[in-house]
Amino acid sequence: MNRKRFVKSNLCPELTDIPPLGLDSTTLARAFRHYYTNHLGRDKSCNLLHYAYEALALVVRDRLMERWKKTRYAYDDSDCKRAYYLSLEFLMGRSLGNSILNLGLDDEVAEAMNRICLDYEELADTEQDAGLGNGGLGRLAACFLDSCATLQLPVMGYGIRYEYGMFRQRIQDGFQIEEPDHWLGAENRWEIERPEYTQRIKFGGRSEFYADHDGTMRCRWVDSRDVLAFPYDVPIPGYRNGTVNTLRLWKARATADFDLGEFNAGDYPGSVAAKNEAEKITMVLYPNDASENGKDLRLRQQYFLASASLQDILERWQTINEGDLSDFAEKNCFQLNDTHPSCAVAELMRLLLDEHKFGWDEAWQVVSNTMAYTNHTLLPEALEKWPVRLFEQLLPRLLDIIYEINARFLKEVAARWPGDMERQRRMSIIEEGPEPMVRMAYLAIVGSFSVNGVAELHSKLLQEGLFRDFYEMWPEKFNNKTNGVTQRRWLSWCNKGLGSLISDSIGEEWVTDLGQLRQLKNLVDDQAFQKRWQEVKFDNKQRLATLVEAECGVLFNPDAMFDVQVKRIHEYKRQLLNILHVIHLYDRIKRGEAENWTARCVLIGGKAAPGYAMAKLIVKLINNVARVVNNDPEVGDKLKVAFLPNYRVSAMEVIAPGTDLSEQISTAGKEASGTGNMKFMMNGALTIGTLDGANIEIREEVGEENFFLFGLTAAEVAETRRHYDPHAIIEADENLSRVMHLLQSGHFCQFEAGIFDPIIGAIQNPFDPWLVAADFADYVKMHEIAAVAYRDKKNWTRMSILNTAGSGKFSTDRTMLEYNRDIWGLQKVPAHPVGEAKTDPARALNGTRDHE
Ligand SMILES: *Cc1c(COP(=O)(O)O)cnc(C)c1O
Repeated sequence: MNRKRFVKSNLCPELTDIPPLGLDSTTLARAFRHYYTNHLGRDKSCNLLHYAYEALALVVRDRLMERWKKTRYAYDDSDCKRAYYLSLEFLMGRSLGNSILNLGLDDEVAEAMNRICLDYEELADTEQDAGLGNGGLGRLAACFLDSCATLQLPVMGYGIRYEYGMFRQRIQDGFQIEEPDHWLGAENRWEIERPEYTQRIKFGGRSEFYADHDGTMRCRWVDSRDVLAFPYDVPIPGYRNGTVNTLRLWKARATADFDLGEFNAGDYPGSVAAKNEAEKITMVLYPNDASENGKDLRLRQQYFLASASLQDILERWQTINEGDLSDFAEKNCFQLNDTHPSCAVAELMRLLLDEHKFGWDEAWQVVSNTMAYTNHTLLPEALEKWPVRLFEQLLPRLLDIIYEINARFLKEVAARWPGDMERQRRMSIIEEGPEPMVRMAYLAIVGSFSVNGVAELHSKLLQEGLFRDFYEMWPEKFNNKTNGVTQRRWLSWCNKGLGSLISDSIGEEWVTDLGQLRQLKNLVDDQAFQKRWQEVKFDNKQRLATLVEAECGVLFNPDAMFDVQVKRIHEYKRQLLNILHVIHLYDRIKRGEAENWTARCVLIGGKAAPGYAMAKLIVKLINNVARVVNNDPEVGDKLKVAFLPNYRVSAMEVIAPGTDLSEQISTAGKEASGTGNMKFMMNGALTIGTLDGANIEIREEVGEENFFLFGLTAAEVAETRRHYDPHAIIEADENLSRVMHLLQSGHFCQFEAGIFDPIIGAIQNPFDPWLVAADFADYVKMHEIAAVAYRDKKNWTRMSILNTAGSGKFSTDRTMLEYNRDIWGLQKVPAHPVGEAKTDPARALNGTRDHE
């Protein structure tokens, strides 16, 4: 692109040194009117809230833009070390409210909007979610970026700008229907294109070896079919600190010559088809959470992200450092969000060897000192393996390099454990067999200096199980980084009532230092405080009830206990166990065993992967049970059940504040960490849960008396598997027998005979990996204890306060400080203040890569 020309025209300081924009309500209102009227061309006859949202987004964006530039200048000027978070998913949700909060503009914006008779929260509510992720892993990436900007760490996110995000879920006759999420159909105000940083990505072709001028053997990747990676930058504002970091998202585009070649051959439709073929790469997010489906387009996406990001980073480094790559490894660090971007290990080798003429050892030094890998799951179906054959077709040069990495690695294994061929076979990056596969997790471990799990238990299980051989070889690489969530979005923004109450009581420091919440412990017995806590919770429950009524047509009474499970639908997360408990409660009511009853509203929500039949059937069961229960006059207000369609970030912003009881009931050893559990805790919900993932640490922080624990431990699960007899368990448990009988009798599928048979079969299967029947009795018992506890309002409120008070550990601020302390080693770099002219003319004159 015409970068040089662009830089020259930029030498005039008049272009960039503009006075800072006003932040007072008068200026904001004026700017709003300008955008609404002059820019968007609307007038008073336009009654679409959407355009008011757009106008306000533009006003806020202008304020982000100047801080964004000052942050870039500060990073470039300080020559600081940087980290890059490489992730196929960033589940950002909405940006307007979060930007206003982080810029510290909430009061002024509210007042400005008030003056023109608009409610800014209502405007914020019209924004579409940016759903570029499946669930926890993608939302974690988004929370990480928020915390890094708040901590003023020079961390940049790299991801894919999917044309279609996570599908929208509708429920029809109780079944999940998927609809495309064409979120870029509307103008996206939270990105700016950066054509000047376009990169070229190779696919196909072959490796060609040659001797260079001094006789060294070198390789080039030839006859490839190239695709362009075109970047869009998304601003990531820190909390009231002037910092705006960057998330760079790549879109695939056809190359000009790609089109022309076909076109000149007279094949116009062919050239258009080729263009579509290229652009298909970033068309859609794969909707699988914790499982891989092995489609070649997915590998293309992964390589596309890795290659574009690495080339971009190397190019930026070289322009700032005049082409000198010698201390690249000291100043750069890559964090791989799961194995999805792990092609980066081989791709960085390729770029250094082939493009920058490094020797192997020199290149390996750089790679193995800059790559760090985070594992997110122990589930075997989620472990990525790609057929060698596919690599050969798509990424032949990368496969050469992977073979060489593996050969050298296996030599090390052989030297360490001479003659242990079995170990070499186990640890090989290439899995042998009729269809040889590349084990991406092993590639990531071999190429990285750090390997971490995402909660204490998960990291321990990785070392003892999945990665045991590697842990024996390199114990020093392994570490734990317990996940978190950002309290800016997940408390300040989504629960303004509770946020204000907390700030009134202990000050505002908790917003950037969540440990401060422990001061709330001093207030647990303060009656006035308890009363205000209850009022806030009640308001939030009303807000949630409004959402449930609008989306599900079910009336939730805010006096009842709100019992909530929202997360991806997966057998290991055991929504099935939850609905079996609901059936049990229904059965008790029908049998007249409902004295001393605690009225309960059960909410379940989540998306099932479109190809995951059992998960979709569980959605259907929940909906059918809900219909029967909600329409039974005998049940009345004692029990309500709703399935909330299209669970997403903005829905969770209403759900977490309005929840009394958070369901975290995965089979122990299966949920790596969970982060939904943390959002609920922070908002004062109590947890009913197993000893799994971060639940263990949540219980440690809050104290066992404030947590409803049930179920087998991870060790007991492993042991039980060996002699599991669900039939015997069902027979011995009267409650479970009745529930199974109701299911088998067709009570919940009167006109759909037999549809739930696969579920009944799964519960009765001695090889049920999730041990649903094994944990049922204990789960029911603990629910009964929770129900009794709920009726003691005062004590429940105490426990609720203690949950929020104990949630300090679960801020991503803490998580990021630990990544930085143990892995990245970055310095905090404050942004240059807005309003000071601080361009560096020397830099511009050098013709270096420009700031703008
Ligand atoms: C937090 C969050 C998740 C993760 O929930 P878990 O209970 O940890 O699986 C998934 N989806 C959305 C929209 C979230 O906000």
